[in-house]
This record gives sequence, C-alpha cells and structure tokens, in this order.
Amino acid sequence: CVLTTFFLSFVLNCRFGALERCKELIEAGYDVRQPDKENVTPLHWAAINNRADIVKYYISKGAVIDQLGGDLNSTPLHWAIRQGHLSMVIQLMRYGADPSLADGEGYRGLHLAVLFQHMPIAAYLMAKGQEVDSPDINGQTPLMLAAQKIIGPEPTNFLIKCNASVNAVDKVNRNSPLHCAVLAGNVDSVHILLEAGASVDLENANVSVCLLCVFSLVVVGAIGSVLDMKTESWLLKGVLLACIIAVINLTSRCRLSSNKHADISYIKLYVLGVCGDLNMPRSHDPSATVQMLFTINITALLYYYLRSCRTDPGIVKATEEEKKKNIVVLAEAGCLDPRIFCTSCMMRKPMRANHCFSCNACVAKQDHHSIWINGCIGARNHPYFVLFLVALNFLCIWMFYGSITYWSKHCPPHYTEEGVWGVVTTLTGCSPWVLYIFCFAFLNASWASILLLVQLYQITFLGLTTAERANLMHRQRKLPQAFSLRQNPFNLGVVRNLVNFFQWRCCGLCKPVVLDWTQQYPMGLSRDHPMFSGPDAV
Ligand SMILES: [Zn+2]
Ligand SMILES: [Zn+2]
Repeated sequence: CVLTTFFLSFVLNCRFGALERCKELIEAGYDVRQPDKENVTPLHWAAINNRADIVKYYISKGAVIDQLGGDLNSTPLHWAIRQGHLSMVIQLMRYGADPSLADGEGYRGLHLAVLFQHMPIAAYLMAKGQEVDSPDINGQTPLMLAAQKIIGPEPTNFLIKCNASVNAVDKVNRNSPLHCAVLAGNVDSVHILLEAGASVDLENANVSVCLLCVFSLVVVGAIGSVLDMKTESWLLKGVLLACIIAVINLTSRCRLSSNKHADISYIKLYVLGVCGDLNMPRSHDPSATVQMLFTINITALLYYYLRSCRTDPGIVKATEEEKKKNIVVLAEAGCLDPRIFCTSCMMRKPMRANHCFSCNACVAKQDHHSIWINGCIGARNHPYFVLFLVALNFLCIWMFYGSITYWSKHCPPHYTEEGVWGVVTTLTGCSPWVLYIFCFAFLNASWASILLLVQLYQITFLGLTTAERANLMHRQRKLPQAFSLRQNPFNLGVVRNLVNFFQWRCCGLCKPVVLDWTQQYPMGLSRDHPMFSGPDAV
C-alpha cells in the first residue's frame, strides 16, 4: 500500500511536470526501475506526458529505456508514439529506444504511428531506418493496417508515397493491402490502392488528344449541319441534336479516364476554335488583315494552351536520401509543422509552395488547380496560362465580331420595332448556328474575362498567387488590426511585379529576377512577417 501511494505521487508529479518532486522521491530511496503492480515504470509516465526533463533525469538514474509494461506490454516509446509526442520519440530514440520492438498486440513503432495517424512520427521513424514494409508480429505491413483500420485516404496515401509495397501479403490469410481495404469496406483506400497498382501502365496521352480533336471536329460539324438544315421542322432538328448529345455522353462514359476534365476542356477548346473558324468566313468576306489576325489568335490560343498543359508547373522533387535527411533535421529542430513540411510528400516545402491533392504533389508557387488544363498552375506555367486567357478572351471578341457582322449583313434586327422577342425570333430564323456560337462565346467570355482580370490584378498590384491571396484574406478577417494585402513581402510594385512574372527583358532597361521557386526555402521571412505567422499561413 505504501508503495502504491508512493507510485501514485510519481504519476501525478510526472503528469504535472514537477521535476523537483520526482527528484525528492528518487532521492528518498525509490528505485526508478521499480514498476507498479501493472508493471508500469515511472519512465512510462514521463514519456506519455511528454516530460523531457523528467525523462532525462530518470535515464541518468538508470531507468531501463525499453522496459515493457502496462496492459499492452509496451515500451515508453510505444506510449509516446500513441500520444503523438514527436519530440519525446526523438528524445527516447537518442537514448537508444528501439522502435522495432513489438508491443503486446504485435505492433511495432511504425505500425502504431500509422494506426494513430501521427504521420510526422511515421516519417521520422522511416527516416531513422524503419522499413516501410516491415511486418508486425501478425505479418501485417503498415499499409495493410492503414487500409484495414483507418477510414479516410491520408495514411494510405502517405504510405504509397513512401513506396510501400501494394503487393505484399500477410502471413496468416495471405491478404494484400487491397484485400484488407475491401474487407474493411474502406472505399478511399481501395481507390488509392487501385490507382497505385494501375499507374504502371502509363496512358498514352498523345493518342487520346488526337482522337479527341477529331471527335470534337466531328461533333461541331454535326451540330452545325443539324442547326442549318434546310427544314422547317424543329422537331427533327431537336431529335437529331438529342442524338448527338447522347453520343457525346456515351463516349465520355466509355473512356472513364482520370483526366475527364481535361477531355471536356479539350473538346470545349476545339469547339471554340473551330466555331470561330467557321463563323468568320460566313460573316462577310473578311479582309486579309482580319483573316491573318484571326489565325494568329487561334495559333496563340493553342500554343499557350499546350504550353500550360505540358510545362511542369514546378513540382517539388527530392531524392529518398534528401527526404530522409530533411525529416531528421527538421524533426530534431522541432520544425516538422505543416507550414514547412508536407506530410503527404514527406518533403520540406519550399517557400510559397502548396500541396495539391488532385496532383498529389507539392507545387512551387502554386496558384490554383485548373480543371481547364487538368493540372496545377504553378511557378513555371503560370505566365503561359495568363497568356492563354488573353488569347481566349480575344477569340471570344472575334466570335462576337463575326456574329454581329453576319447579322448586320443578312438580317439586321430592329430592336425598337420588334422588341426583344422579335429580335430573338429574327436571329434564330436567320441562322440558328450563328446564334448558338454567339451564346457559346458569351458563356466562355463571361468566366474567362473575370478570371483574367482577377489574375492580372493579383499579379500586377498584389504580387500574390490566388492561393496566397485567399489565405491572407482568411487571416485578415481573424486579425484585430486590418492590414492591406498590398503590404506583403512579394509585392515589388507594379512594374517589377510584371517584369518578374513574365520574365520580360528589354535591352537592359528591365531585368527580371530569375528564381527557381522549387528551391527557395523560408529563411525566417515567412515566420517573422506578421501576415505569415499563423499555423495556416502562406
Ligand atoms: Zn506535398
Ligand atoms: Zn493540382
């Protein structure tokens, strides 16, 4: 009973961190190796409560670092991992704690970190040499545990990123991670595992793009000829249009590819270009200048579109060795926090980089993930994307110009005499095809112009990306004192912002600063500046 009381005071002192009191108790003659009746030692209590000073003192007094104890027969390191105390894990491992020991349930350190979803600890253990596919006592790898026990994509995603084997099987039932996920009904994991397995057969992007272009041309041609058919029956036209829409839907369903959005945008782009193309000669006999300008516009549109798609947006890469080294350095410096470290990529994040969950990568100076190009807009393709938007807006203007000149030549509407409905009837009767193109151009022009204006404002006047601006606006609302978005360290003034963004050079008059944003790491800037100091800051 005396011993129990004695131990209880140990537990309380550990919890509340009274180092002096613990010292007194040890000096009064309590053996630091002496467990209580549940076999728990004082070191276990110090570890679970994250008391670095007390752990240090107990070790100096001869505590056994890998003492098994408690209901689950675990070491102090197991307790610290379950609680997610990274600094304690680091400290215990410095004193020689062994993360490969298994607890009473058969789990090793890495398995526990994954099971309790403490990804920074899992990253640290792997960087310290724990194998990602090491089995526990039951023969299960961490990936199997994640697939079986954790609903949600994060741990599975994380382990796949760390090159965990999707084909490993456990000893007992010969189940693979995919079996585990299916048995547990873990839809997110099933999806990720299938994708990881399927990524071996790389899709042939070029062929699909060519097919899509041909397909879009056929679709546009078909819609055009149906609309302009020499028949009075709108019922027939309606039925034929419905058939075309059905074919488009069926085709897109058959493809079932992951880049469905890109397919749609390719189709849209080609429809736009081709519509413009067909519309121009119809409008009137265009002069050579108009034809040349229009051709330049279309070429620029396609060129900048392909450049935005094909240019690497600035995906941050690191070798396995670099990753491991960074994890150990950052963890030991207490900097393994989400602003500096990406737990999905297991990488140190450069300044202004963001993790994109669609691309599953960290992208340098990420602006946003665009469904138009089915990829991220980042440091390297952002200028191309802005120029693409400029070309797209000009194309819409050409289409308006073509439609209006066509109408003024063939069926000039008289708004004052006919009213709105009269004008619509006249234009529909005149050429449904031209009206269709006009509406199509209007739809595209409305979002493209707004997007372009917002982009230009951010680039020129703020020097920020869309992601950073959204982040700062969010923080602005929380802070008591207001600050202007223009007062940020990346805003160098209108001219310099533009010169740097588009990398303009003009006979020595302007000289852009060339920075590789995948290699710029925060040097106190992002933490010292009041705007960048929050946990969710840029
Ligand atoms: Zn990342
Ligand atoms: Zn992305």
